[in-house]
Amino acid sequence: MKYLDFAEKALRGEALSREECRQALAAPAGELLGLLDAAYRVRKTYFSNRVMLHLILNAKSGLCTEDCSYCSQSAVSAAPIDAYPLLDEEAMVEGARQARESKAVRYCIVTSGQSPTPGELDRLCRAVKRVKETVGISICTSLGFLDDAAARALKDAGVNRYNHNFNASRRFYSTICTSHGYQDRVETLRAARRAGLELCCGGIFGMGETEDDIIDSCLAFRELNPESIPINFFHPVPGTPLEKVEYLTPLKCLAILSLVRFLNPANEIRVAGGREYHLRMLQPLALYPANSLFVSGYLTTPGQSPEEAWRMITDLGFEVQQEVSGEIAVR
Ligand code: SF4
Repeated sequence: MKYLDFAEKALRGEALSREECRQALAAPAGELLGLLDAAYRVRKTYFSNRVMLHLILNAKSGLCTEDCSYCSQSAVSAAPIDAYPLLDEEAMVEGARQARESKAVRYCIVTSGQSPTPGELDRLCRAVKRVKETVGISICTSLGFLDDAAARALKDAGVNRYNHNFNASRRFYSTICTSHGYQDRVETLRAARRAGLELCCGGIFGMGETEDDIIDSCLAFRELNPESIPINFFHPVPGTPLEKVEYLTPLKCLAILSLVRFLNPANEIRVAGGREYHLRMLQPLALYPANSLFVSGYLTTPGQSPEEAWRMITDLGFEVQQEVSGEIAVR
C-alpha cells in the first residue's frame, strides 16, 4: 500500500516525490486510516506515544504596524481584540507557573509587532531570567524580526527556542502580507540559529494556497530542519481581510499533518492554532502524525483546556510528556 511506502521512505531519510506528496494530500476519506497509520509509524519511531504540551502567553497584543491579512492584531484588522502593551515581568513569570500547572513542557512568550524595542527586549530578558530561576521550564519566544544582537541577548537570558513561522510558501507569501517579505523571515531564522537558539518554524494552511504551495511549505520545513514545526489551520476571524476564507476540512487538515510528518520524520510537529475549530470531533486523530499541541488557547482565540487535553491524550492510550531534556521544574 502506497502510504506504508511513504512511511518507509521517511524512515530511510528520503523525501517523498512531489507526486507522492500530492497523493498524500489527496487521500480520500476511505483511505484516511491507512494514511494516519503510516504517519503514526514514523511518529512512533521518534516520539513513541508521548505528547508535548505548550502554553502561550500573549505578552503584547494588537497595535501592530504590519499588514498580515490573516492576523487579528494587524494594522489592517478591525477585529475587536484586547490590545495592550508589553506585560510586566511578574505577569510573564506567572504565565510560566500556569504553564507548569498545565503540564506544559514549554512556555511560549509571544508579542505582536514587527520586532521588540530595546526597552521591551530588556524586560523580556529579565522575565526570562526570573522564570528560569524560579519556575524552570523550557522557553520559546516569538517576538517578530530579530537581528544578531537581539538574538544573542535572548539566548544569554536563557531562551531555549525562537519561533518565527514561514506562514506560507515563498510564492504565496506576498498574497497574505505586503509590509515584509518571506526572505525577511528567513533572515530572522538565520540570526536565531547563529545565536544558538533552537528554531520553531511552521505555517498556516487554509488561506487560499494551492496544493503545490502546501508541498513547497512542507519541503521548506525539511530544508530548514527546525527543532519544532507548528502547523496552524487558518481560523478566519471577523474583522480581518480573510474573514470569509474557509477552505479546510478535517480530512484535509489530517492529510497536511501526515505529509508534514513524512517529510520531517524526526522533528517535533505541533498541531497548533485552528485545531479545535477545524478538526472538531477528529482532534485525537491529529496525534497520530503530530506529537505536540497547545493548551488553553492561542493569541486571540480560545482553545481546549489542559484538563480536556490530558483526557484526550490518555483516552487515546498516549501519555503527556513530563519534561524536555535539561529542563526540570524548580520545586
Ligand atoms: S507581524 Fe505578527 S502581530 Fe503583526 S500583523 Fe503580522 S502576524 Fe500579526
